[in-house]
Amino acid sequence: MESLANSISSTFMKFADFAFTHFVRAIAETMIMCALFALCVKPAAGQVIDPNSTCNNNSGQTSTNICYDGGNVMAAPTNAYVIYYGNWATSTQTIVNNWLHNVGGTNLFGINAAYHDSAGFAVQNILNFPYNGVAYTNAYQDYQNAGDDYQTLGTQLNGDAAIRQIVSDVISAHHLPADTNGVYFVLTAWNVSQINTGFGSFCSAYIAYHASSTAIISGSTIKYAMVGNPLYSTQCSQYFDGNYLRGDSTTPNGNLAADAVINLIFHELSEAVTDPTLLTWGGTRPHANENGDLCEWNFADTAGFSHLPMAGNGAHYNITIAGINYLIQKLFQVRVTSALAQGSFYPGSCEMGNVSITSSLNPSTVGQAVTLSATVAGLAGRIPTGTVTFYFGYGGQIGNPTTLVNGQGNITYTFNNSKNPAYIYAVYSGDTYYDRSNSPLLYQVINQ
Ligand SMILES: [Zn+2]
Repeated sequence: MESLANSISSTFMKFADFAFTHFVRAIAETMIMCALFALCVKPAAGQVIDPNSTCNNNSGQTSTNICYDGGNVMAAPTNAYVIYYGNWATSTQTIVNNWLHNVGGTNLFGINAAYHDSAGFAVQNILNFPYNGVAYTNAYQDYQNAGDDYQTLGTQLNGDAAIRQIVSDVISAHHLPADTNGVYFVLTAWNVSQINTGFGSFCSAYIAYHASSTAIISGSTIKYAMVGNPLYSTQCSQYFDGNYLRGDSTTPNGNLAADAVINLIFHELSEAVTDPTLLTWGGTRPHANENGDLCEWNFADTAGFSHLPMAGNGAHYNITIAGINYLIQKLFQVRVTSALAQGSFYPGSCEMGNVSITSSLNPSTVGQAVTLSATVAGLAGRIPTGTVTFYFGYGGQIGNPTTLVNGQGNITYTFNNSKNPAYIYAVYSGDTYYDRSNSPLLYQVINQ
């Protein structure tokens, strides 16, 4: 799929998403919380949870779709909490905190709002991470004070239990509230390792995961995530940062730790709200794909990473939020009928704009007219508009851009004898909802 995959093992590329014990209460609890605060949004009548019937009961999950398992999404406005475990530079915290403060309400985070559940609720495009003019109130640094977990648990965290312990202790000490509408991120510093999770060690098997537990606050389902500093250090063999993995030598904010962690937080946050207890949008366990997984390390359309705009420092970025540039992975937008009609969604959902190309006559003969057709596959209920333009693989445009009709564009072309074989591809222009994207190469044989 992505050429990047060749340079890193699939095990390493895969973020681990594991459920832990005690997740059966999620359905009732989510509904109770929503009813209690009247904060949840019900989608319009007639919306279909899972239009791909073969996807039900997990039998139909593919590399291009994910399945609904029957659980609940986080339907109330989500509150993010961050625990900086260990030594994180203030400048790094500021960048991460500011991003969390602003990412709610963006088209990017709004892709999560396409995810509904069988109770009729949907994720809302709201993420609360308040800034009170002095401090980001949902952030806490667990480092300096005697008695803090950093002093007692140290730099080698033992199992996921250590993450739950950190969250529990910070809540118990009233540094952060206990909140079932929250996602608690434990960000571990560059010198912190984690072992014995049952699915390997930090930076050898995973770099981030999300989970839930009812043991942190007895009887309440607390959603949390572990995100390590994924940079070359005592833990990691290389930088697990999008810019560095794609060949850039810096990141949009010039702060490698902050930019790398933001991308990972976005991945786990999106999965947490759509699959909070790993019973909702994620398909068959284990090895389920959640909405972050199908797009992981995917930052650009198929025209490539170099197609992205470049910040002043030379780092590529793909989104600007509140005036600040970031490179953040795309997110899978589930194929739910009419979901897109709810609002404006980020056009960069990674599965969009799949372009196929066919020829009416292959092989053909010199002088024969051949009709080339490009079809742009959209999501259910949203037919792509715009144009397709055909090109020779070795350079040169074929005819003029043609406007899509029902997602398809055709052009008739008469090949001469200088083009055998012809490698041809189509480029879709993109529109309000779908990204620009390219078709695979068509191998057109032109006989004399
Ligand atoms: Zn994931």
